[in-house]
Amino acid sequence: MSYLIPNSFLEANAVLKQSAIIATIPSKGSQSCQMVTTPRTKAFILQQPNISLPTPTTIPIKYAVRVTAGMGKGLFATVDIPFAETFLVEKPLVVLPKNIGEAFMIPRSGLTPAAWHEACMDEGEKILQRALDRMTEEDRKTFEALCDISMEDAAKRPLISRLVSNAMNLQMDDPSGLNFGNGYVGIPRAGARINHSCTANAVFHFDPETFNISYTAMRDIKAGHQIFLSYVGGGGTCTRRKQAMTRYNFVCSCSACTDATQETDKLRLEFRPRIESLAGPSAKVQSVAQAKALLGSTIQLKKALEKEGLDNEPHFMNVWFALQALYMKTGDVGNAELCGKRAAAYLTFPAARAQFKKLSFTVVT
Ligand SMILES: [Zn+2]
Repeated sequence: MSYLIPNSFLEANAVLKQSAIIATIPSKGSQSCQMVTTPRTKAFILQQPNISLPTPTTIPIKYAVRVTAGMGKGLFATVDIPFAETFLVEKPLVVLPKNIGEAFMIPRSGLTPAAWHEACMDEGEKILQRALDRMTEEDRKTFEALCDISMEDAAKRPLISRLVSNAMNLQMDDPSGLNFGNGYVGIPRAGARINHSCTANAVFHFDPETFNISYTAMRDIKAGHQIFLSYVGGGGTCTRRKQAMTRYNFVCSCSACTDATQETDKLRLEFRPRIESLAGPSAKVQSVAQAKALLGSTIQLKKALEKEGLDNEPHFMNVWFALQALYMKTGDVGNAELCGKRAAAYLTFPAARAQFKKLSFTVVT
């Protein structure tokens, strides 16, 4: 049995009756990005003062693409990459609304949901082809060489299939306030070769003012070791992460997945507010005894997070700041300095700086 799409749905989508246009960002420069958007957003973005700055180059190159055991190709460190080092900065090949077809489809009545979905996917394929047509030959070849592991029908819509396999969510609000419901995604270049792990050793950050994606080591990565990102964020249970990874046709076998328990699931669900809540009490402790008690529980939380691999999140910097403050209050200047050094290193890279803006910590000096 099929049913027709209700009018309310069609009306809600009618606000997006605009054609997709594609902007090349920046218009001049060695590495450029094709952005699929509306005319208003294009005009806004191209007016941004930093948008035409060249992408900073990370030289010497400290990574290489190699074939992995069981994960296709992956990105590997060719030399030691220390914690907090941004080892790669690049512009995405293309940036586009997450639901690319639906974002620009003019709703038609009388379609079943399945037929509407098909029509949207076909539209998405056409728009992506237009973006590809604007790319340099080199960029087009890079796109065509990307892996294709999605559950989509690659023979029918090869571009959408590559998109689903490689797109990453970008932290960007549409400057026109038109966020297409789900925001934007981007297809990276070398970054597209970085495989998933729930205990990833790197993190990425997209800067909407420059359109650069930067990748930073969240632990020391030894030469020869594979670089990983978490595709699904750190805050989900093992079951939830597995479900989220089905779209990549990938079963994660990281230590957090193989050793998952009810307790580790609980830690993942609660770790962000727990870390954030460290700020207040650590700043307010009055007595040395209070500081010692709080120091003990903070060290325990730190150990649990490290065991679970959650020390890879920019949030983890709050643990170092809290420890710095507590060691200082207990008179342990040496440890306070060590923790302060570690905390300060976070402030050198974009993903953590963005996070730091939201904090209420006073840095202990
Ligand atoms: Zn995993």
